[in-house]
Amino acid sequence: MSDTIEKVKCLIIGSGPAGYTAAIYASRANMFPVLYQGTQPGGQLTTTTEVDNFPGYPEGVSGPEMMIQLQQQAERFGTDVRDGWITKVDFSGDVHKVWVNETKEIHCDTVIISTGASAKYLGLESEQKYLKLGGGVSACAVCDGFFYRNQEVVLVGAGDSACEEAHYLSKLCKKVTMIVRRDVFRASRIMEARVRNTKNIEILFNTNTDEVLGDGQVVTGVRVKNNITGEITEIPATGFFVAIGHKPNTDIFKGFLDLDETGYIINVLGTSKTNVEGVFVSGDAADHVYRQAVTAAGTGCMAALDAERYLAAKEG
Ligand code: NDP
Repeated sequence: MSDTIEKVKCLIIGSGPAGYTAAIYASRANMFPVLYQGTQPGGQLTTTTEVDNFPGYPEGVSGPEMMIQLQQQAERFGTDVRDGWITKVDFSGDVHKVWVNETKEIHCDTVIISTGASAKYLGLESEQKYLKLGGGVSACAVCDGFFYRNQEVVLVGAGDSACEEAHYLSKLCKKVTMIVRRDVFRASRIMEARVRNTKNIEILFNTNTDEVLGDGQVVTGVRVKNNITGEITEIPATGFFVAIGHKPNTDIFKGFLDLDETGYIINVLGTSKTNVEGVFVSGDAADHVYRQAVTAAGTGCMAALDAERYLAAKEG
């Protein structure tokens, strides 16, 4: 073993609510966790504004602030939080090998994967501008819908997520306009029927988003184009929701872990265990259904407890 190889009892990959919760539990259990933050320290919550649905914050909390507090809590119990990006793994042998930034090699007794998922966006300049400003672009209706009560919003997408989010928003907002790029939904029949039967959801088929309109600070509308007729329409709206899918950040685990067709890690039902002993998963990397900070935190706790029990059984 070369001098450059570090040995770690518990390595946590990712710094969202799942990773930090795993770190709090693992450090309190004397597993001396090392946590690598990845390229987006704090994870997806750092792109949201107010978080009002995480228990324990009666006044709400900003996403970035909550993530700083979670980091501080993990560090209070001794978690070694590091900058760095895990670029490669090898889970084929008894020792779980992980490489940081292509160079540093770490050998781990246990690995907790909390790499999350990234929401897909259209990529329009105006969409990214108002997303960064926190001015009315969101990829999470459950997180942000509340801020648009009694207002008019536009939502793009036609899968199950889009239908679920449109229906959720319809209960809060005055009107939801759904932008569907083809003349059919991708969603299941039942989800499609639900949005079609909701009075305050208008569906525009064969339509693409041209631009998110705003006053420089907040969204004021969306310009769309019918891709059959070429007709351009401006829809007044204060919110623009994007629900065109998520991509789990699991590419480096391909070939070692069982993934579903979208790339989500398949866990043993009711546990955080993967198909490789000593490798556990928490948060959105394995969850395309709930995707909430609080559910991610819950599975982070499960992963640390499963890792602790695995080590205890191994050490006899
Ligand atoms: P999907 O990949 O199923 O759907 C993405 C949707 O976004 C499609 O309608 C697609 O259009 C559209 N889209 C993609 N790119 C663009 C673009 N650039 N412009 C406009 N529209 C675009 O993702 P979901 O997140 O909806 O679902 C992911 C998985 O999770 C699915 O398996 C789904 O069934 C599941 N799920 C299940 C739920 C449940 O059962 N309660 C709830 C939520 C998700 P097009 O159709 O033209 O390709």
